[in-house]
Amino acid sequence: MPSARPGIVWLITVTACVVLRVLLSDADSYLIAVAPYMVVSIATPTMIWYGIRRYRPAHRAGWHLLAAGQVFYAAADSLTVADDWLSGEFLEPTPADLLYFTYYLLVVGAILLFIRRRTPGWDLPSAIDALVVAISAGLLSWIYVIEPLTADSELPLNAKLTQSAYPVLDLMLLILAVRLVMGAGTRGPVLYLVLSSLTLMLGVDTAYAATAIAEGGAVVEASLDTLWMLSLGLIGGAALHPGIRRFDQRTDSAVPDASPIRLAVLAVAVLIAPVVQFIQWLRGEPVSVPLISGACAVMFLLVLARMAGLVAAQRRAAITDGLTGLRTRRHLTEVLALECRRATRIGHGLGLLMIDVDHFKRINDSHGHPAGDAVLCEVSRRLLTAARAGTVIARYGGEEFAVLAPHTTAGDLLVLAERLRSATAGLPVDAGGTLLSVTVSVGAAALIAPTPETLLDAADRALYEAKATGRDRVVLAATGAGIAAER
Ligand code: GH3
Ligand code: MG
Ligand code: MG
Repeated sequence: MPSARPGIVWLITVTACVVLRVLLSDADSYLIAVAPYMVVSIATPTMIWYGIRRYRPAHRAGWHLLAAGQVFYAAADSLTVADDWLSGEFLEPTPADLLYFTYYLLVVGAILLFIRRRTPGWDLPSAIDALVVAISAGLLSWIYVIEPLTADSELPLNAKLTQSAYPVLDLMLLILAVRLVMGAGTRGPVLYLVLSSLTLMLGVDTAYAATAIAEGGAVVEASLDTLWMLSLGLIGGAALHPGIRRFDQRTDSAVPDASPIRLAVLAVAVLIAPVVQFIQWLRGEPVSVPLISGACAVMFLLVLARMAGLVAAQRRAAITDGLTGLRTRRHLTEVLALECRRATRIGHGLGLLMIDVDHFKRINDSHGHPAGDAVLCEVSRRLLTAARAGTVIARYGGEEFAVLAPHTTAGDLLVLAERLRSATAGLPVDAGGTLLSVTVSVGAAALIAPTPETLLDAADRALYEAKATGRDRVVLAATGAGIAAER
């Protein structure tokens, strides 16, 4: 059990520096007052690299980017301190601004890498949810931070752009943080430390901007500094936790798609725009009509897309067999009724195969149920591979499969049945390390003007005959005048 001690020592050190920062805030020398802050700022990347060395996570790129970002952050902090100390005047963006921007981009890159690792594929539902939250947050940020920051008509364009870049970059980080927490991946201390650090930083940045707006200029507040220090402490603490080894592993079970917390977050997010508009109207302020209606429209569409996705996922789940991935019996029954009506109307033959694994009980009895399941999965895979694309193959019962072949003559159906039988029996099946020889019996029926009952009954009787005459064979139902002849 690896110890978590370096992380605890680090967090105690950060707390001590926070206390010192508060105690020294009235010190005569500015440099002494901010010294504890600088200690934490400069130590943070070192701690992340120490964590990488100590715990050796399998994928280190994200953590290296994070540490590199913190180097730029510390450099930017140093320049800001030097600047405040020397009271130098720089044209915006100052070199410190450029260093802070680089920090943001590196952290964005790091979180993107984490998301990529933890959630392979697109995970569209989580991406849509994150976008909904982002639009609401973006709206708030625009109305209450960016617009007021840039409202001062005296301010030159470069200063306006520089100042509004911070809330925009914060917003980018927020979107990614929401995506990180909503996507799949291991939960645990590291995730929560990273998220707390980001949340704290975004909160303090917003408070900083709000204070700047209220006071009409930049502020240096010991209280804000202490919160930034805590945010740095938390990210360093995350890298010093042994959990970083598993941080970018994907969990076996995906995050529930519509958990109550997620729905609550989404409900709050979609309500923000109308509430903001209502507050503006109540206070008699100018209402941001184009912005708010645009945001509402996009969010409606996103919610609609999300709903369509959920319905499609439910539908997929309802027609897919959990073990084999084949269609369910329910789906086959639906399609069978449809195809029978179509075949009767057009006058074409409709074919049905009933396939049953031979002596399957023996496999279960001698090798266990899991081996039996493995055989069912492999037989299903072979059936799917051997059939034409578009053929409906369903798991009809325990180890019984049904194959529906529309627009088929008895001759075509026999060829298909023989292909499926030999594909299954061709090679031994690997059932959890043991190679087993598996065969199937196939009952085939091809009828003109069929009903589901006549077709199922004919195929079932043919299957019974295949079993009775020795198994591992195909029998075509003899149904007299009803048989679909070659044509
Ligand atoms: P036959 O050649 O006459 O078909 O002999 P059989 O042993 O295959 O007989 P039958 O078709 O009656 O056997 C069905 C067996 O399949 C009984 C049941 O224990 C097993 N079974 C049903 N569903 C599952 C399943 O999901 N997994 C596993 N492992 N076994 C199953
Ligand atoms: Mg059987
Ligand atoms: Mg059976």
